Amino acid sequence: MCGILGYVGLDNAVDVVHKGLEKLEYRGYDSVGIAYQQNMKVVIQKEKGRVIDLAPLLKNKNSNIAIGHTRWATHGEPNKLNAHPHCSNTNRFIIVHNGIIENYQKLKVEYLSGYDFISQTDTEIIVNLVELFSLTMSINEAIRKTMSLLEGSYACLILDKKNLNCIYFFKDKSPLLLGIGKNGITLSSDITGLVGYAEQYVALEDKTFGIAYANRFYFYDIIGLKLEPNIKSVQVSSSEIDKKTFTHYMLKEIHEQPLMIRSILQKYFIGDEVNIPLKLINKMRKCDKINIVACGTSMYAGMMAKYYFEKLCSIPTEVFCASELIYSTPLISKRPFFIFYSQSGETADVLAVMKKMKKQKFPMLCITNNTESSMGRLTDFCLDIYAGKEIAVASTKAYTAMIVVSSILARAVSGVRTNLKSNLKGVSLAMEKVLNNKEICLGIAKDIVNEKDVFYIGRGMDYWVCLEGALKLKEISYIHTEAFPSGELKHGPIALIHKDTPVIAIITQEGTNRITRSNLTETISRGAKGFVISSKGLSLPEDTFIIPNVAHYLSPLVSAIVIQLIAFYTALLKNNDIDKPKNLAKCVTVE
Ligand code: GLU
Repeated sequence: MCGILGYVGLDNAVDVVHKGLEKLEYRGYDSVGIAYQQNMKVVIQKEKGRVIDLAPLLKNKNSNIAIGHTRWATHGEPNKLNAHPHCSNTNRFIIVHNGIIENYQKLKVEYLSGYDFISQTDTEIIVNLVELFSLTMSINEAIRKTMSLLEGSYACLILDKKNLNCIYFFKDKSPLLLGIGKNGITLSSDITGLVGYAEQYVALEDKTFGIAYANRFYFYDIIGLKLEPNIKSVQVSSSEIDKKTFTHYMLKEIHEQPLMIRSILQKYFIGDEVNIPLKLINKMRKCDKINIVACGTSMYAGMMAKYYFEKLCSIPTEVFCASELIYSTPLISKRPFFIFYSQSGETADVLAVMKKMKKQKFPMLCITNNTESSMGRLTDFCLDIYAGKEIAVASTKAYTAMIVVSSILARAVSGVRTNLKSNLKGVSLAMEKVLNNKEICLGIAKDIVNEKDVFYIGRGMDYWVCLEGALKLKEISYIHTEAFPSGELKHGPIALIHKDTPVIAIITQEGTNRITRSNLTETISRGAKGFVISSKGLSLPEDTFIIPNVAHYLSPLVSAIVIQLIAFYTALLKNNDIDKPKNLAKCVTVE
């Protein structure tokens, strides 16, 4: 995970890297560090805290070159000692690294027996290998030799004290972009880090390395062959990553959803016709099974997609948790089609499955918020969810955007004319109404904030939203929350209900509404505090949050706003760091 940033050029590199790290902080925030050149020496500043904590140490510092890191610890405690940058034994080389080196212990024993290690990180191995090989080789060769030994994932930036005019960079599996600006070159884990300093960028391929100077750069493959860069223009604007008048990115992103739906409709409809590549539609029509692969929130969006593909297209569909699928290959049908869901397009587990399936030449589609990501580049087909930049670690708008795009795709594959477009417009209006009544969610939050456990219950589609509701609440309020299909309660979980345990039922589906209500009553009879989120047509006057009616198969998009707001307000009442919850990072680039 983590964010790395480097700059060499005419602007003040200390400022560029410090500001850039702020934008990358959502990727990891255990600790932070920066290295920069001053009087031909390298100064390193690190802190256990957040990017902002470095500010006093960097005040009035100027440099032409700097590298920085905001960490999500994988090896070694998140403390100052383990914070990046790390130096080689003679202090000649300084590194920041994103990723995990799986064979670092072996490399340490085989190559670096006489070396001292200050931190517990795997990263120190990399920088010392470069130093070791540089004793007998050029730096380029030393880096290539190091890369050939590393197993795992890495995006690295290295400074060489003997040549403080350039940054060496190399990567495999972890993302890295090189930004080209008028005044210099920026290297960043994602595109937001380039905004303001680069008009164009190059997304590095795996197993490549290069050198960046203020006004030029070079790329090579692992054998040392020079590569021609594929230069693209930076499309993200600074306003997209601005919090505007909102106190939190999460709140801003929750509020963006009604408008986002309308812009997705503009992208995927021409008049009433769905605008999805025919080649993709035909490929999907030929398959005998759709396999959806994802993690976390994207996996819950995938459950809705399964419903659409089965109901609208009559194609059997299964949802797989990517981290499980990597190590246990299921029985694959004769004509499978794979769909990979990932907000960032960099999710390590999903990417690993994608690579595995690619080797077997199975046709695949990626549904992502970042079509320029590693997954976007690897896949046969890619659909943008057009959610706009999502910065809060807890995903909100990417979830609903994935569901919307899946419903449009299913409609295209089915070939059946439906009212989907106008129904989705109705969803957008319904979301606005929910947002106008958001204080009801604050009321629910007040009732649950001091509880140890919370339960969400529902059936079918409502249950899938419950799963997302429980995940959201766990992620940012740190309250233990579970979601159960309401029919399962009596098979065990009801034993957990005691006096005042909050149980939140989602009831938006005809056919299951009555039975879910009965299941909720059963918990209330055992002391639970019951809350009901119901759609208007199925509501009772005493329900907690009555959401507007929309087409039944789209109601999860509306109840999603409610569960997101409940999580938000609960975390707010607990004074938690909502946009950067503890132990998490937005982009899970390690397995
Ligand atoms: N494995 C390295 C560490 O634990 C880098 C982790 C990261 O990507 O932040 O320091």
